[in-house]
Amino acid sequence: MSAIAIDLPEKVTSARDGILAFAEQEVLPRHEANQALFENPRSLYREDGRFSDDLLALIREVRTASAAAGFYQMCVPEKLGGGGLGHLAYFVAWNALFHRCGPQNWLMLYALAHWAFGPSRLLTQVTPEAQQRILAGLMDGTRSMCFGLSEPNAGSDASMIKTRARKDGDGWRISGRKIWTSNAPIANYCVVFAVTDADRAAAKQGGISAFLVPTDSPGFTVQRIIKLFGHIGGDEAELALEDVYVEPWQIVGELDQGFSAALYGVSLGRIYNSARAVGYGRWAVELALEYASTREAFGSTISQYQGVTFPLADSATELHAAHLMGINAAMLLDQGNPAVKELSMTKAYSVQAGYRAVDRAIQTHGAMGFTNEVGLTQAWHSLRIVNVADGTNEILNRTIAQRLLKGDTDI
Ligand SMILES: Cc1cc2nc3c(=O)[nH]c(=O)nc-3n(C[C@H](O)[C@H](O)[C@H](O)COP(=O)(O)OP(=O)(O)OC[C@H]3O[C@@H](n4cnc5c(N)ncnc54)[C@H](O)[C@@H]3O)c2cc1C
Repeated sequence: MSAIAIDLPEKVTSARDGILAFAEQEVLPRHEANQALFENPRSLYREDGRFSDDLLALIREVRTASAAAGFYQMCVPEKLGGGGLGHLAYFVAWNALFHRCGPQNWLMLYALAHWAFGPSRLLTQVTPEAQQRILAGLMDGTRSMCFGLSEPNAGSDASMIKTRARKDGDGWRISGRKIWTSNAPIANYCVVFAVTDADRAAAKQGGISAFLVPTDSPGFTVQRIIKLFGHIGGDEAELALEDVYVEPWQIVGELDQGFSAALYGVSLGRIYNSARAVGYGRWAVELALEYASTREAFGSTISQYQGVTFPLADSATELHAAHLMGINAAMLLDQGNPAVKELSMTKAYSVQAGYRAVDRAIQTHGAMGFTNEVGLTQAWHSLRIVNVADGTNEILNRTIAQRLLKGDTDI
């Protein structure tokens, strides 16, 4: 019996069911068969913190198998050769994957194209020549990309970026630094944001452009892998660009209007993170219910104590709200509504609800909640990060308040 009265279109439910079946056949068995690899950080990462060759091979296998089965690119617009499913399918499919696979079977992260790493509607913003050069490899899962906006001195206020693109003949030379760029260590292309008109950028009236840069371009280097939460490796990197030459075919969107092009991906990113939070939260609540029903203390299972179950009821309530918000925001986006306020509310609320749900599930498990086997701390790390990444909770609240003050008070 569904807790949600909204009838999802058949193409969305069949996409969800299809990708879940794919996860059963292609993701879970790979984790099962490679337990030794996944349990040993020294096998997962190289000395310099990059993914090991064995892990890269598995990632590639999942990406290409999913692409061959038509799932990987199912939310990419049809005019780019994708399945044409929109934000609702993206939310529903990611929610199902996170819920079913939990944080331990994390190869599922590569089963569906992430907007910043794989093909997405962002590619409608690249030139026909760029599409000609890069689309096939992105669509078949053999190649990937990354999104280079944040810099050491520019995070929430991205207009503060210092990376410059100086005109040189028909093209530009890009110099600067990027930080936190996810997937950069293994990406073939990076969408790099750079100032092309300093006066307009200073006045916050455009002046920042986006360029598609192959990561093997002369002058482009991955300077270091950033390690988070005590891990010995990672997927985020710091980048240096020194006089990297780009040509007109590499412009993404319009010159001086890079942020407008970025919007094509950012909404998918917020839908993805909302789905991640709801999916992990649901996984954690179910785990906690199961544990509470078997663990005994003071003569009965701990599920008999309201001190244990009421926090889980709170989590279920919050996640139900977040689930509905995610479906609603995705439907608004599919209707062509930019849903700036609703998407900000959804992402900010969902990641906090998901994080709280995982934290409460850890508490339900007592000491067992901190062990690697249970996996709750991995979900906790993941959701703690998205309270900052992809727009911090404060910046999302700022956006909501700005919209309200402009008269957008329909809630
Ligand atoms: C794991 C991870 C992956 C990431 N991946 C990418 C990526 O692929 N590409 C990319 O370009 N970036 C990426 N980022 C960077 C991310 O976008 C930034 O971390 C985020 O925008 C916040 O910027 P900041 O960390 O510099 O914090 P800051 O902007 O320095 O903010 C610091 C604190 O001040 C608060 N604050 C700032 N301004 C205000 C205000 N006006 N009102 C109230 N509070 C405010 C913030 O909310 C925050 O709590 C990633 C980050 C992480 C953690």
